[in-house]
Amino acid sequence: MISIHEALDAVLAAVIPLPDEEVPLLQALGRAASQRIVSPEQVPTFANSAMDGFAVSGSDLEAGRREFRVVVDIPAGRFVEEAVAPGEAARIMTGAPLPPGVDTVVQVEHTATAGDVMTVETAPGAGANVRRAGEDVTVGDVLFERGAHLGAAEIGLLAAVGVERIRVARRPRVAILATGSELVAAGQPMQPGQIRNSNSFTAFGQAIAAGADPILLGIARDDLNETRRLLGAALENDLVITSGGVSVGEYDFVKQVQDELGVQRRFWGVSTKPGKPLAFGTRGDTMVFGVPGNPVASMVSFEMYVRPAILALQGRPDVFRPWFYAAAAEPVGRTKSRTEARRCRLMHEAGRMRFTTTGPQGSGILSSMAGAQGLFFVPPHYPGGDVGEELLVMLLAGSGTERPPFPGAPAVR
Ligand code: AMP
Ligand code: MG
Repeated sequence: MISIHEALDAVLAAVIPLPDEEVPLLQALGRAASQRIVSPEQVPTFANSAMDGFAVSGSDLEAGRREFRVVVDIPAGRFVEEAVAPGEAARIMTGAPLPPGVDTVVQVEHTATAGDVMTVETAPGAGANVRRAGEDVTVGDVLFERGAHLGAAEIGLLAAVGVERIRVARRPRVAILATGSELVAAGQPMQPGQIRNSNSFTAFGQAIAAGADPILLGIARDDLNETRRLLGAALENDLVITSGGVSVGEYDFVKQVQDELGVQRRFWGVSTKPGKPLAFGTRGDTMVFGVPGNPVASMVSFEMYVRPAILALQGRPDVFRPWFYAAAAEPVGRTKSRTEARRCRLMHEAGRMRFTTTGPQGSGILSSMAGAQGLFFVPPHYPGGDVGEELLVMLLAGSGTERPPFPGAPAVR
């Protein structure tokens, strides 16, 4: 069995980034830019008011003038070319362009008006309450590097500089196949001894969240021919996840079928709990993951190895999760020879981040994965620890470029 780091190294080393495609901006949401993006426009395009108020000359204010004649009204969207003279003011709304001759906005709350005379009650400094042209973005600014994740803010920024279409990595096509003769699809009646397929649903959700295009291939019974047929078809995709059938049971056919279909095994078995019998290999450009069947083992294996692979396929450098050390809010149980990943929630107590388990930690207990905010990692041969013990916590949201220092590993990078 190999360590978490060795397994991650093997997975990341096998990634062959996908080609890119050009899409309309909204379709780029959640995907990765496939080129560095340089701004074609500046933002703001013109100097404009940051407040509703009156635009005046800053030097008038500095010279002590407090009364101004209001000569023009400028709502947002109106462009006034005539200069405002000394001693004059423009009534101006937030976002409206400053006319020539003025450089300072007095917010309306600091003024009084009678007829067309405006009196400044509290004078701001010269240049106040004005957004300079280009103060956010100037033409030629690098907005994002290649591989950047395009979330809501990034899409908005691109819209702000007039980008309508953008090149992004193709979404990885991820085939999801559940294996197990005991499995029943949602909506089908249950016979004695059967269980419902949940792994296809969790993997689908995890794949979508990672920017992939998942395809559900249903359930393969524990039958060599059926497994061959369905896994064979799955190999047409960029990445394949089978769940179950990868341990040492009589009916665990996944590894055998992977071998028959020419999948080159990179590893089988990671020294973690849950997730030990993970099998990873490649055939051509296709990455093939056999994750264990237990619902939590399936999800944790996806989180640890499949998600980084899906992100790296899109050229993302931030394939890891954010992590930190936090204190246990309850005693931490011992471990045996494997590193354990346990699910937790986070809270603050006396100014410190603490974690608490979400409930029973069996690898079949999916209810304690639901609502988990993070995984915390307990090193192998851990004797048990008290409240306050500091352990590595990996968030189950967000992304980062720094690999978490998973315990139980030979030192790497
Ligand atoms: P396996 O890895 O095939 O030995 O399966 C381990 C456990 O996970 C067994 O209890 C299976 O019934 C269960 N399991 C396997 N596949 C799924 C699935 N798709 N959904 C829910 N549970 C599953
Ligand atoms: Mg099985």
